[in-house]
Amino acid sequence: MTNTTPMMQQYFEIKERYKDCILMFRLGDFYEMFFEDAVTASRELEITLTGRGPKNKNPEDRAPMCGVPYHSVEGYIQTLIGKGYKVAICEQLTDPAESKGMVERDVIRVITPGTVIEGTMLDEKKNNYLIALHKGEMGVGMAYADVSTGEFYAGEFTGPLYMETVVSELIRLESPEIIASETMFLAWNDRMLDQSEQRFPISCYASPDFDFSRARERLEEHFKDNFDPIYWNAMPLAVEAAGGLLAYLAETQLNALPHIREIWAVNTRAYMPLDATTLRNLELVETLRSGKKRGSLLWVLDKTGTAMGGRLIRQWVQQPLADRASIIRRLDGVEELVKNYISADELREYLKNVHDIQRLISRISYGSFNARDCLSLTQSMAQVAPIKSCMSGFKKPELRDIAKNLNPLNSLVALLKSAIADDPPFSIREGGLIRDGYDKVLDGYRSAATDGRTWITALEEQEREATGIKNLKVGYNKVFGYYIEVTKSYYDQVPYRYVRKQTLANAERYITEELKNLEETILGAEEKSVKLEYQLFCELREKLTEKLGALQQTAQALAKLDCLLSLARVAQDYDYVKPELNQKGVIEIKAGRHPVVERSLREPFVPNDAYMDGQNHRLMIITGPNMAGKSTYMRQVALIVLMAHMGSFVPARSANIAITDRIFTRVGASDDLASGQSTFMVEMSEMAHILRNATANSLLILDEIGRGTSTFDGLSIAWSVVEYICNPSILGAKTLFATHYHELSELEGRLPGVQNYRICVQEVGEDIVFLRKIAKGGADRSFGIEVAKLAGLPEGVLTRAREILGSLETADINQTSIGHQILETKEQPEQTSLIEDLVSRRILDRLRVLDISQLTPMDAINQLNYFVEEA
Ligand code: ADP
Repeated sequence: MTNTTPMMQQYFEIKERYKDCILMFRLGDFYEMFFEDAVTASRELEITLTGRGPKNKNPEDRAPMCGVPYHSVEGYIQTLIGKGYKVAICEQLTDPAESKGMVERDVIRVITPGTVIEGTMLDEKKNNYLIALHKGEMGVGMAYADVSTGEFYAGEFTGPLYMETVVSELIRLESPEIIASETMFLAWNDRMLDQSEQRFPISCYASPDFDFSRARERLEEHFKDNFDPIYWNAMPLAVEAAGGLLAYLAETQLNALPHIREIWAVNTRAYMPLDATTLRNLELVETLRSGKKRGSLLWVLDKTGTAMGGRLIRQWVQQPLADRASIIRRLDGVEELVKNYISADELREYLKNVHDIQRLISRISYGSFNARDCLSLTQSMAQVAPIKSCMSGFKKPELRDIAKNLNPLNSLVALLKSAIADDPPFSIREGGLIRDGYDKVLDGYRSAATDGRTWITALEEQEREATGIKNLKVGYNKVFGYYIEVTKSYYDQVPYRYVRKQTLANAERYITEELKNLEETILGAEEKSVKLEYQLFCELREKLTEKLGALQQTAQALAKLDCLLSLARVAQDYDYVKPELNQKGVIEIKAGRHPVVERSLREPFVPNDAYMDGQNHRLMIITGPNMAGKSTYMRQVALIVLMAHMGSFVPARSANIAITDRIFTRVGASDDLASGQSTFMVEMSEMAHILRNATANSLLILDEIGRGTSTFDGLSIAWSVVEYICNPSILGAKTLFATHYHELSELEGRLPGVQNYRICVQEVGEDIVFLRKIAKGGADRSFGIEVAKLAGLPEGVLTRAREILGSLETADINQTSIGHQILETKEQPEQTSLIEDLVSRRILDRLRVLDISQLTPMDAINQLNYFVEEA
C-alpha cells in the first residue's frame, strides 16, 4: 500500500495477526471495520458501508469501512458471533489526550461463540461450553470449558463405540463452538461421509499443543498444584485435548484466566449414559416439537432461585447418577429439606439475594469487573453466613458437605461493604465508587473539592479587609483559573503581592501565592480522588482474586443447595414420593404419573402401576388404540426411573426402582429427511444401536417397532426383536414394547418374561372413551376407525374403511390376496358412497349457478341431460 497513514499501517499490522476474525478497531467513540471485514459486517449487521480516504479519489480506491458506537457494541458482536464469526476487539491502549504521536492499539480479546462472557449474550441458566476434541489411536480426548464460569473438564473415550459416546456428549453439552485437532477433524469428516450426524459447529484448530508433552507442560503451568500429573498420565488423550483447549483460550482470551483454577475429570462412569436419541425422545431439557424448555422434564424440576442452580440442575437432569450410594445420598438430602420445610423456605429466601457469583468473578479475569459487580458479589456473599447457620441443624451428609464448603469470607465481605458506595457507576475510572470514610486520603481530596468554595469565600473576605477594597471579588474561569478582580477606581489600593494576570476594560485580574495554592488543592483534588478511587478499587479486586478458590467453592455449594431445594420444592408441591432403590432388578411403581403430562393437562391425570423384574415380568407388550396413552405410560416409567437416578423424588404413590445402567428409547418417527434416510432406515439403525448396547440391567422403551415397512415384514421384525430381547442368555433387558401387532400377544406364555397389557377404552356405540388405565391382557381390537372418527375423517371414508375391515377380518389373509379382497368389496353398490358424495356435490354446484330466468327450453333439456349422465 502506498500513501498509507501511520494509523492504517497500524491497522494492517494488527489485521495480519487476526486474519480469521472480524477486526473491530477502536477509533475514539467507535469501533471501525475496514475492507473485507467492513463489507461482511455491513451486510450482516445492516449498517452503512462508507469509504475512507480522499473524497476526490475513485470510490473503488477508497477503503470500504463501517463502524459501530462503542456503547452499543455488545449487540453487534452478539449478532456476528451468532452467525458464526469470530470478532477481535482492538482497543486504544494509551489515552489519546495524553499520548504524543500515535495512540497505541492492540487486540485485547477475540470473542468466539464458545468464549462469550457478556451477560447480555448468554442464557443465564445454561453453560456456554467451548469444546476441544483430539483423536488418538485408541479413541478420542475431549476437554471443555465455560470461560464465563471458570469450569474446565477433560476426559477420554475409548472402546469400540467411543465415537457414539462423543456424539452423545456433544449433544448434551450443546456447545456453540467445537475445535478439533487435525487428526480429529479428518476422522470426523470421514465419519460424516457415511453417516448422518446432526450438524455441529466444528472447526479445525491445528496446534502443536495437542501433543502430549506440550499439553502436559501447559496444564502444569496453568493449573499448578491443582493438576496431578500422575493421575492425568493415565488419560493421555484427555491431557492432549485439554492442552489444545488451553492453547486456544490463551490465543483468544489474551489474559491469564486465573478463574479457571481447577481441571475436573469427566467421569462417565459416575453417570448413567444417555444416548442422543434418548436425550431427545424423553424431552429432558427441551421438547421434540418446539425445542423449548417449556414442556420438558427440566421445566417441571427447575424451581431454582439462582442462575448457578439453574445451570447445575440442567446438568443433573442430563446426567443421572449411576451409583446407588451417591443417588441415596442426594435423595436423603432432598428428604431432609422436605421434612424441614421451614428451614428450607428460609434458605430459599436467602438464595433470592444471591447473584451469579460464578459469572461475576469470571469478569475479574477479564478486567471488566466493576463496582456494581462488586456490590452484587458483596450482597450475595452476605447471604452465606446466615445460610450456613440455617443449615447447622442438618444431619444428612449431602447437606453437611454443602454447609462445610460454604465460606462466608466475613472479613473480605465486611471490607467490600465498607468500601463500595451504594449506587456506584458502571465506569471504574470516573470516581463515585468508593464510600466516604473508607480511606482518609480520599476523604481529604473529596473535602478539598467540596470545601473549596468555602475557602474561597473566606479568602475573599480576608482580602477585602486587608486591602480595604470593598468590591474586591474572587472569580474563576477555565483559562486563567482563580483570580482576584479589582475595578479601575481601586487600582491604587492594590498591594504589591498581587500579580496581574489579565486586563479588562474596567477591571484588572490578579493572582496571589495563597490563591494559587488553594487553586491547586481544589482542582488537583478532583483529579487525584478519581485516580485514587480507581487504585483502591484495583486493590479490592486484587484481594478478591486471592480468594477466587474459596469464592468458587462457595458458589458451587450454593448451586448444589439451590438444586436440592428445587427438588424438595417440586416434591412437596406436586406430591412426589422418595423412591427406594434396589439392586435386584425390580421396578415397582404404584400409582405412577407422567411428571410433565400431568402438569399440562386440564383434566386429572390417571395414575398407573408398573411392575417389572428380571424373571417373569421382563417384557411388557402394550396394546391399545392410538391416543389411548401407550406412549405416555412408557415414558412415564422411563422418566420415573431416570428421576430416581437423579436423586429426585418421583410422581407416584410409591416406587422401588432397580439400579439401571442405561435407558434406551426407540419412539415415534424421527425422520431424518435432510440426510436422505428413510423413517424405516432410521428406525432400524436405532434398533440396532439398542440391541448392541443394552444389557440385562437396561430399560428399553420401544414404540411400534416395525411400523415403517409392510405389515408382514414389520410384524416379523417386531416378533424376532421381542424374542431376542427376552432371551436371558442374549440380552434379557427390561422392556416396554408398545405395538399395533396384536399377534404379538401370542408370545405371552410362550416366551418366558413376556406379559401382555392393554390400555383400556370403553366402547359407547360407534364411539370410544379413553379410560387411560392399564390392565393385564391384550387388546382385542385396534379401534383405529373410531380414533380416525374422533380426528374428523369424512364420514364416507370411515364407512368405506369399516367395510374393508369387515371383509378383511373374515378373510383368510395372505399377502397377495389382500388387494383382491379389498377390490372385491368394491363391487357392492352401497360401497360407492364416497363417489356419490362427490357426484352430488358437482351436480349441486352446477345447479346453484343456473339462472332459470335466462334459460331457453333447449338449454334446460341440455342441462338435464348432463345431470342424468353424471348420475
Ligand atoms: P398413544 O401413545 O397410545 O397413541 P399417548 O400416550 O400419546 O397415546 O396419549 C395421548 C394423550 O392422552 C396424551 O397426550 C395425554 O393428553 C392423554 N393421556 C395419556 N395418558 C393419560 C393419563 N394416564 N391420564 C390422563 N391423560 C392421559
